[in-house]
Amino acid sequence: MKPAAFSYHRPSSVDEALELLARFGAEAKIIAGGQSLVPMMNMRLASPAHLVDLNDLSELAQLRVCADRLEVGALARHHTLAESPLAAEHCPLLGQAARTIGHGAIRERGTVGGSLAHADPAAQHALVAITLGARLTLARKGAHRVVEADAFLLSAMTTALQPDEMVLSVSYPRASAGEVSAYRMFNQRHGDYAIVAVAATLALQDGRVGTLRLGVGGVGPVPQRLDAVAQSCRGRVASVDWVAEVARAARDAVTPEDQPRVPALYRKELTETLVARALARCLERSGVPA
Ligand code: FAD
Repeated sequence: MKPAAFSYHRPSSVDEALELLARFGAEAKIIAGGQSLVPMMNMRLASPAHLVDLNDLSELAQLRVCADRLEVGALARHHTLAESPLAAEHCPLLGQAARTIGHGAIRERGTVGGSLAHADPAAQHALVAITLGARLTLARKGAHRVVEADAFLLSAMTTALQPDEMVLSVSYPRASAGEVSAYRMFNQRHGDYAIVAVAATLALQDGRVGTLRLGVGGVGPVPQRLDAVAQSCRGRVASVDWVAEVARAARDAVTPEDQPRVPALYRKELTETLVARALARCLERSGVPA
């Protein structure tokens, strides 16, 4: 299938891109990696009259450390994040998750900004952003605003972006000394979106749980951060028994909907299994014997 006719714009600066968005409003769509938008246009699920292509804006593809955060430009590709030494050092969960997105060709083109704007409930970037408490910098002509990930991702395929706004960058808290992380997912075929995915970061203090962050994707319209489960772990001895207990608590904390081919119970069981695997990996990375 082919898309409906559109006008193509390739701005050479962010200001020019924002000018185009201000001029065309809801008639325009940004194109970044094109990995979600182009299939939607080909299926006529999206028919923008104007496409604003960000691919010449190399300043939007940079990663840099700013104080206690890692700032990632919206145009940073999944592949870049998977391979970046800066991401590996300051926000390893980002690379661990990006490495599992789709297939190689998709990772070469797809971008973090495009993934968050697309807002698939099972997307890796949405889960990482919610789990870590990422902040998005959004811009429109003459104005910027910063939005927390959980205020940006409103529902499945729905965000707080206005038609004349774009994502400029996403910032993530830098991992603290000794903090480890793990991402685990289950899908039916290699390259598919996850049915359920789990992201975790863990910092131990003298063998006890200091800070735990735990997020689950695929169990609701947006990924869910299991703060109550995580808080209840503070001070506990990190052990195999503890892992099993947290996994059961996570299973009880999620409330997925029944779907014709994926019953809610199946997603709850996947949540328990994947939380156990993610935490076991965190313990291994922390040097705790399993
Ligand atoms: P585009 O397709 O260019 O745009 C997507 C949407 O975001 C559009 O609405 C566009 O207007 C908007 N947009 C893009 N950039 C910005 C910006 N800076 N500011 C505001 N709006 C913007 N994703 C996963 O997470 N996990 C998977 O397992 C996975 N598997 C896939 C398998 C296949 C076969 C395919 C085709 C895709 C898969 N994807 C998967 C999607 C992939 O990650 C896309 O790259 C991503 O969803 C969109 O990123 P993009 O840069 O390609 O955005």
